[in-house]
Amino acid sequence: MLPHPYCTLCTKHMETTEHLFLLCKWTKKIWTDPRLQINSTPSNITRFDRWLLEVFEKSDILPEKEQIAAVLWNIWKARNDSIFRGKTPQPTAMVDLALAQQVKFSRWQSKEGQKPINRNLPTRWKPPEQGKLKLNVDASWSPGDFSGSAAGILRDSSGTVANGFVVPIRALSPQHAKALALLQGLKFLNQTEATHMGLGVVQSSGWTVESDSSNSVDAVMGQAESSWDIKAIIEQCKEELLFIKSVKGVAVTVEHCLREANRAADWLANSHRSKNLPG
Ligand SMILES: [Zn+2]
Repeated sequence: MLPHPYCTLCTKHMETTEHLFLLCKWTKKIWTDPRLQINSTPSNITRFDRWLLEVFEKSDILPEKEQIAAVLWNIWKARNDSIFRGKTPQPTAMVDLALAQQVKFSRWQSKEGQKPINRNLPTRWKPPEQGKLKLNVDASWSPGDFSGSAAGILRDSSGTVANGFVVPIRALSPQHAKALALLQGLKFLNQTEATHMGLGVVQSSGWTVESDSSNSVDAVMGQAESSWDIKAIIEQCKEELLFIKSVKGVAVTVEHCLREANRAADWLANSHRSKNLPG
């Protein structure tokens, strides 16, 4: 997704991260909402990451981090609604939504914290069975400007790389970035080329997609409810899965793996983000 040069909310300024999230007249209305209790309105911000760090350092007098994250997420959604659906942003309603989501998010987080870590997962990448293919996906993300890369590596039972992809993404959190990487991976599998790849006859009776994000994997497989910030992406993932099954007739299993077993995809995403690889 390429950023639009002009802010779609006000159509007057260039859409920089600082403008969109802090300085736009629409965004300012959100931050000045008395319910958020932010007394210092960002007016002369030059770097978004510095502002965010400053806010987080003062978090004893400011709202919780989750609340700020929820507000940022709603600004991003309002921007997309404005671009793709022509909707006018509603600052008051956005604060309502952010506050409601913050409550849900806190609950979801405490549940997640109690979840036991699966110690039985292998720490090294495990090849798929003969005739099957495995796609490992991961994302690399920088909090400063919300930009990142999603990557995937498709390998066969001998560990030979059959194909892969790297794409730029924009995400609000590492979790959001990893969910996007999973979606990109499923979209990649939906492309016809991914089934042929010059491997000769791959009687691929099943594909596995591996991600080290247990939140995304559990949500896509219907084993857990997705947190609000990745809900829309998870729904898209489910659609892609249905599509692969009905159109290609291939069953895809989405599985969780440890970070240690996902190093190749992690490396690919990192290299792409640090511009060592061509887009
Ligand atoms: Zn604007």
